[in-house]
Amino acid sequence: MNNFTFKLVCQCGSTDARVGEFHTPHGVVHTPRFMPVGTLANVKTVTPAQLKECKAEMILANTYHLHLQPGEDIVAEAGGLHKFMNWDGPILTDSGGFQVFSLSEIRSISENGVQFRSPRDGNTINLTPEKSIQIQNQLGADVIMAFDECAPYPATYEAVKLAGQRTTRWLERCIKAHDRKDDQALFGIVQGGVFLDLRQQSARELIEFDLPGYAIGGVSVGEPPELIEKIVKATTPLLPADKPRYLMGVGTYKEMAQAVAAGIDLFDCVIPTRFARHSVALVRGERWNLKNQKFKRDFTPIDRECNCYACQNFSRAYISHLVRSQEILGYTLLSIHNITELIRFTQQMRQAIIENCFVEKFGHYLVEDSPAHADKVGH
Ligand SMILES: [Zn+2]
Repeated sequence: MNNFTFKLVCQCGSTDARVGEFHTPHGVVHTPRFMPVGTLANVKTVTPAQLKECKAEMILANTYHLHLQPGEDIVAEAGGLHKFMNWDGPILTDSGGFQVFSLSEIRSISENGVQFRSPRDGNTINLTPEKSIQIQNQLGADVIMAFDECAPYPATYEAVKLAGQRTTRWLERCIKAHDRKDDQALFGIVQGGVFLDLRQQSARELIEFDLPGYAIGGVSVGEPPELIEKIVKATTPLLPADKPRYLMGVGTYKEMAQAVAAGIDLFDCVIPTRFARHSVALVRGERWNLKNQKFKRDFTPIDRECNCYACQNFSRAYISHLVRSQEILGYTLLSIHNITELIRFTQQMRQAIIENCFVEKFGHYLVEDSPAHADKVGH
């Protein structure tokens, strides 16, 4: 497992925020870091070369989607995900658990695994901890995730407790099934819903397995955003300091800042590309819809100070024209800007921790009910 090390570079003097280097066989991830999502082995409308320009280091792909199309056999035949999609940086695949529990028509959940109907052809698919790991072994990402039971929100204490206990039992099976321990790091996923004692229980059980990294899962499933911070604050201190910590599915400014302050290193979210496809630019905590009338004759860049390809070369008016005409280039340019923006936000936090001014620069996100929430619609 020496192919994966987490080097703690420095820590914030007044919060649990930290700066690290996560070394993987395909390169180093400088944390805290936002990871763009490439569900079907592509970050929608953006080429790998453009992703590099956005300063993306590690990206995600989804096991559930890739299993349905094209299938892990074809990816393996191509030489694995890195070769198939021509991305030579680190890749992480999720386990499919979250998608199975949230997207699919579930037929049954048992100790063995989950049976669901394929949305592609209606066939019954059995996803078990062993199957998820086998698929992820074939896909060949640097980091793979344990198959977990993600309880819905809301759910009863008892139901969440059982899901958490099962997640631990499934983790044991994932570890046994994992065939590529040398070049793939398996991360465990803390469950426990919005119940802080269950979160802590789950974390305590997981760290017994001494894994190369840990994630907090089952958030952003519909619970009020302020609960995410509470969950993260209650859980993160229990996770080992010398391993990377990943908060799954979170990618708004405020939630990332709060999580970084609690000691989280990695984030992923579909927000930058999904918003782009809805003509929305993320600009310093605000969301701008480029279809808005006022952009029609605005010949300035989205963000004058942004060094992304979109802002360096194109105007709001041009991008507004493109998205009004539903031209793909409009979505590409907005995706490039939005991905750059969220990665830059995590890079700026990193720099602030190094310069010992994290609270000074990001403290306004840490205040309860701060107006700096990413949902703010402005301009
Ligand atoms: Zn930009």
